[in-house]
Amino acid sequence: MDALIAGYRRFRAGYYEQHSSKFERLGAKGQKPHYMIIGCADSRVDPSINFDTGPGDVFMVRNVANVVPPYAPDGDHHGTSAALEFAMKGLEIPNIVILGHAKCGGIAALVDREPGDAPTNDFLDLWMSVARPARRAAFKAAEAVGVADDRDQVCHLCEQENVKIGLKNLMTFPWIAERVKAGTTKLHGLYFDITKGELYRLNGEAFELVPPA
Ligand SMILES: [Zn+2]
Repeated sequence: MDALIAGYRRFRAGYYEQHSSKFERLGAKGQKPHYMIIGCADSRVDPSINFDTGPGDVFMVRNVANVVPPYAPDGDHHGTSAALEFAMKGLEIPNIVILGHAKCGGIAALVDREPGDAPTNDFLDLWMSVARPARRAAFKAAEAVGVADDRDQVCHLCEQENVKIGLKNLMTFPWIAERVKAGTTKLHGLYFDITKGELYRLNGEAFELVPPA
């Protein structure tokens, strides 16, 4: 814990001191973020750093492999869906961003498991099975260009397909679909390459490099 406590003290003496009035305002008036980001729990992809945002800017949900499950009010415990509901009905956030990333461990686990394989853990395999349509689409796309035997390529395609499937799943939530149709909420897909620090933005069916400057 020592590294975290030391980090907190640096924050307290530095960032907090410089922005204390903003923290006080946000504490008193509440949040009104313009963006909801659904990102991966991966420690190498920190949206606050990647997008240089501050407190109050982004309503953030991070789960394993930035998966968005389809709308399923079935009495189960749905953390990401609960966050989406609050983001829409409570905060009326005008932008939902799904942020995928390279070298995603959750996606690699999904690619490596055949759909019929028995679960090897309590939660993880079942959670990642939500993204199976992305796995199918990735193998199909990989076969089309002759790289279905290249695991890294299949994972890369699957990471990007997972963002597209997530965007489709967002539209199965009736209170998201109605806001998108009314034009009050926009959906976006992004993909971050950890090693190169490059960002790609989904345009139609293709991810396009965002110029870094
Ligand atoms: Zn990940």
